[in-house]
Amino acid sequence: MPRADALYFDNNATAPLRPEAASAMQSAMGPPSNPSSVHGYGRAARQIVETARAEIALLAGSRPADVVFTSGGTEANNLALSGFDHVITSAIEHDSVLRAAPDAVLIGVDTDGRLDLDALRDILATVDPSARDKTILSVMMANNETGVIQPVDDVVTLAKQAGVAVHCDMVQMLGKSHLDFAASGFDYASLSAHKIGGPTGVGALLVRPGRAMTSLLRGGGQEQGRRSGTENFLGIAGFGAAAKAAFDDVAHYRAMAEWRDAFEARVAAVRNDAVIYGSGAERLANTSCLAVGSKSSETMVMAMDLAGVAISAGSACSSGKVHESHVLKAMKAGEGAARAIRISGGWQTTKVDFEKLAEVLTAL
Ligand code: PLP
Repeated sequence: MPRADALYFDNNATAPLRPEAASAMQSAMGPPSNPSSVHGYGRAARQIVETARAEIALLAGSRPADVVFTSGGTEANNLALSGFDHVITSAIEHDSVLRAAPDAVLIGVDTDGRLDLDALRDILATVDPSARDKTILSVMMANNETGVIQPVDDVVTLAKQAGVAVHCDMVQMLGKSHLDFAASGFDYASLSAHKIGGPTGVGALLVRPGRAMTSLLRGGGQEQGRRSGTENFLGIAGFGAAAKAAFDDVAHYRAMAEWRDAFEARVAAVRNDAVIYGSGAERLANTSCLAVGSKSSETMVMAMDLAGVAISAGSACSSGKVHESHVLKAMKAGEGAARAIRISGGWQTTKVDFEKLAEVLTAL
């Protein structure tokens, strides 16, 4: 176990469970809870699921009916793309998009990690009119490794002009700003509970009314035939409570941008070799991806862990192994990518935490 005074700066990987989510799950736990059952137990479970749906819809700016519960952001991304024969996406998407569409046409990014809109225009111009109905453009709202915010309004405009569907992975933006799915023009958007202080293993796909859905799972036709399988009732209860609590976080994240910037300025002042990836672009307030000194990312993560700070290695970390980051590669980060670390604050992070983080990092 990490020491009691450890600092947690890996919230883009997962955030600590909010007390509101824990208590919602605890109070829902126990009775038989199949929301499809007609008896009183089932109706009580249904009510909890529908309350959570409304809370999540409020945070994402959608109608409750647009929310299709899934097992997380990964499934939501897979589900969004599943009904399409052609996928256009960016080179910096999460693996759950890139691996769900191995034949996708990839749009590059600039050295700050922003989508190349001219390249996107060129790619869309090549879409065969007869293939438009079966083509989807998928671009994330904010990148999980660098925090760089993508020009998704332009993406929607271009997608509409080209007559193709558009999906947005909102997983990292949810809770950090008030989203408006209804007004956004997105046809689909993905959400995940554990990035906002809900439990792991639950998320949602938002689906615009009238948009087709190709269910990945065949079975009982839950979620109005859009996602079969008895709902993850406890997870959904926790997701709803986390979404409700996250609604008031926007001011916290606005303040966090200043704490993060002060942290970066302090690191840069002490270590003049520091490189901050994406610093020329608009970024999520909580995220800093940087290379400092000569140690590899893995060594830095271990050294920081020993010093009592949990961070991650540029993110491309799965099953405990650090791989070259496809995001930093697309940004042409060069050899610095092998030394990159990612710091990400969360709903529980304070200004003092960022100050301590700067102290530890500059002393290494
Ligand atoms: N999309 C992005 C941008 C993410 O950062 C993640 C998680 O790291 C996911 C999708 C996948 O979400 P989940 O862990 O809920 O499957």
